[in-house]
Amino acid sequence: MAGIQLKGVTKRWGDFVGVQEFDLDIEDREFLVLLGPSGCGKTTTMRMIAGLEDPTSGDIVIDGNRVNDLDPKDRDVAMVFQSYGLYPNMDVYENIRFPLKVRKIPEAEHDERVRRASAMVELDDFLHRKPAALSGGQRQRVALARAIVRTPKVFLMDEPLSNLDAKLRVSTRAQIKNLSHELQVTTIYVTHDQIEAMTLADRVVVMKAGIVQQVGTPTDIYDNPANTFVAGFIGSPAMNLMEGEIVDGTFHATGVEIPGFADMKGPVVCGFRAEDAAVALDGTGQIAAPVYSMELLGDSTMVTVRAGGTLVAVKAAKDFRTTIKAPFAASVPREICHLFDAKTGARIS
Ligand code: ATP
Repeated sequence: MAGIQLKGVTKRWGDFVGVQEFDLDIEDREFLVLLGPSGCGKTTTMRMIAGLEDPTSGDIVIDGNRVNDLDPKDRDVAMVFQSYGLYPNMDVYENIRFPLKVRKIPEAEHDERVRRASAMVELDDFLHRKPAALSGGQRQRVALARAIVRTPKVFLMDEPLSNLDAKLRVSTRAQIKNLSHELQVTTIYVTHDQIEAMTLADRVVVMKAGIVQQVGTPTDIYDNPANTFVAGFIGSPAMNLMEGEIVDGTFHATGVEIPGFADMKGPVVCGFRAEDAAVALDGTGQIAAPVYSMELLGDSTMVTVRAGGTLVAVKAAKDFRTTIKAPFAASVPREICHLFDAKTGARIS
């Protein structure tokens, strides 16, 4: 049982703020993903929880105990990094066994534990190979097995899939999800890949420039992004964001007219998701503009037009065909629109 509390956790180097006033209650057994672009403070947050970096201010509590002054080895966390961190001169068996030796777990238990952990990540046939004789995916599985060979209070995973090719990433992602469900250990997972975050997380923390932008379930964050940064970061494609103005209850931008905003006025950013819009085959949609590009995705066709000063994507049926510069209209009713403040980017409705 190990919940984690971050209370005003801040990391500065001189004037530079790497992480600012991070407050969060992470529940016991929760799978929490820290998501954000490079340099937003994800790894620093993780390293502070692990004890590899001291916070400048704030408290870190694991399982009810303030751990700020505890060494990494006394925090009972297991870490998995993108660089695997395996010992090249030890075979797979010894690599997985290593944490048991360090923690002075009775020798009699080692063999069974190593075999159980290696079976969980399907490495049984590789136990006597050295890391150099393994593929990237197999090495990452050794690193996972080494983390799960004893049951720590917390798993910390820093971009564990980033060195794997696309196919292996998907299968290892599924394996991590499955393992975390089976082991029921609180997990904090760092990634800049929003798909990884959406598929793995119980809750996602979206960060930008050291500041938490939103905390929520993947569905919350997808359906109700707190600001234009989150809206533009989550989803593939990300939400369309058009700058314009509401006059007399209608949102206006180049090539766009969306009525239905009776109680609002002034400059705003209007967002909608490509899959919520529809092609207006009769040519009378709220968006009307020439086609900029058409991409065949297999299950659908993505049409892009320039509207509201930006490129806007609309998901069409898989057999929909058009040509570049052909007239195009899309149905984008008020109901599918998200409105954001033009200055701050904060969600209005
Ligand atoms: P990435 O996805 O690239 O790993 P990240 O979100 O994990 O990025 P961090 O590694 O946490 O980002 O870094 C956050 C910011 O703090 C970055 O701008 C980084 O340059 C800065 N930073 C990290 N370590 C130090 C340090 N020791 N001294 C000064 N600045 C640092």
